[in-house]
Amino acid sequence: MEYVSTRGQAPVLDFEGVTLAGLASDGGLYVPRAWPSFTADEIAAMRGLPYAELAARVMAPFVGESLSPDRLLELTREAYGRFAHQAVTPLFQLDQQNWLLELFHGPTLAFKDVALQLLGLLFEEFLGRRKDTGADGALTIVGATSGDTGSAAIDAIAGREGVEIFMLHPLGRVSDVQRRQMTTVLAPNVHNIAIDGSFDDAQATVKRMFGDPEMTGRFRLSAVNSINWARLMAQVVYYFAAALQLGGPDRKVAFSVPTGNFGDVFAGYVAARMGLPIERLIVATNVNDILHRALSAGDYSAGTVTPTAAPSMDIQVSSNFERLLFDLGGRDGMAMAEQMRGFETSKSMRLTNAQQQGAASLFTSARVEPSEMTATMRWAHEECGETIDPHTAIGLHAAMASDLSADVPVVTLATAHPAKFRDSVERATGQRPPLPARVGDLFTREERYAELPGTYEAVRDYIAEHATPSA
Ligand SMILES: *Cc1c(COP(=O)(O)O)cnc(C)c1O
Repeated sequence: MEYVSTRGQAPVLDFEGVTLAGLASDGGLYVPRAWPSFTADEIAAMRGLPYAELAARVMAPFVGESLSPDRLLELTREAYGRFAHQAVTPLFQLDQQNWLLELFHGPTLAFKDVALQLLGLLFEEFLGRRKDTGADGALTIVGATSGDTGSAAIDAIAGREGVEIFMLHPLGRVSDVQRRQMTTVLAPNVHNIAIDGSFDDAQATVKRMFGDPEMTGRFRLSAVNSINWARLMAQVVYYFAAALQLGGPDRKVAFSVPTGNFGDVFAGYVAARMGLPIERLIVATNVNDILHRALSAGDYSAGTVTPTAAPSMDIQVSSNFERLLFDLGGRDGMAMAEQMRGFETSKSMRLTNAQQQGAASLFTSARVEPSEMTATMRWAHEECGETIDPHTAIGLHAAMASDLSADVPVVTLATAHPAKFRDSVERATGQRPPLPARVGDLFTREERYAELPGTYEAVRDYIAEHATPSA
């Protein structure tokens, strides 16, 4: 399998190459050169497989020659063996039409674990292999987080060989649970940095470091955010898992996805391109609604971020949307590069007719207000006995407000455990969800992190002092 950049200029890479590279060197994102697909019979034959086996089957065409089928299965078994539920991503029925796909049974209670647990193993596998052949093996991951990505990435990288992680978070602006999930991981290859500044400051520092020749010359820097293709690939699997349980491929299923960076819902699009019959993908946003405006009116223009009770969706630029626009726009890298250059200058762009019509054949969108989110948390709690988090509530509201016919099952992706956002859940339902046993001693564990001023120089000097030079 070969991967090409959405902007047409970066080298073509195999799966191992795109996993280690993250972003393409021309500023674009890697996508498979062509979508692999399964016949209806092949999909039907996946019914009843344990999750790790289903994952290996769905991912095999994307992995290509980079891993043997046996090795891939070993890695999926190890990654998903760390989940607290045998089914890994179980379905929960809410009413006649609505289901929740619980994606929060991983170690850090958010759906990002599904992809990052595997990505940590893939890094270790590919880097170890390079070391065997005498090539340079040290990888320094630098990232910025507003909460969920940081904890999931740290858990996935802690103790892995040949790779280390420096994670920046804004001091005092992540929840206690989120901070402790990062700072109580004491593995020597994990470095937490709290900066005196906002998430945007942290992200700007990271971006600047990737463009600083002094740093990129000394260290082999990489990223773990959802621009990494391997993360999206791992998320395709649970669309298959859910659809198979609800009658697929003989029956079409719809999905409602609480969306920020467009990674999770893009994985649903990939599943559809691979032949999984999907009736519709509902893109649910909060008041930070750039994707709703883009999909309903062709207007992709960034405003300023409004902080909400669903912070993982407080995003004004959705990186992975470029992958969809590229695919729907005839896969023309030059045109895509020009469209994105326009956006980067003016913070605004129009979708082309082809992009708008292509998207409309599968996607609808909804913007969900805070009052609707709260009412949906209360409804699930009172009518279905299920406590849901604010992000999931946004997806569920959009699902229930859609005009889908009553015989189409609608699966809302439950992206975080309610205990991760205890304060909002308690305000809506009157009950404070307990932390699951597997993270129960979080508040008695030792914390470790560096506190730095929010300047680029301070962070650069700290990382230069503590990171492992590449050769
Ligand atoms: C990251 C995240 C999202 C948004 O996912 P994208 O792939 O960025 O669209 C939604 N909910 C939760 C809880 C998250 O952590």
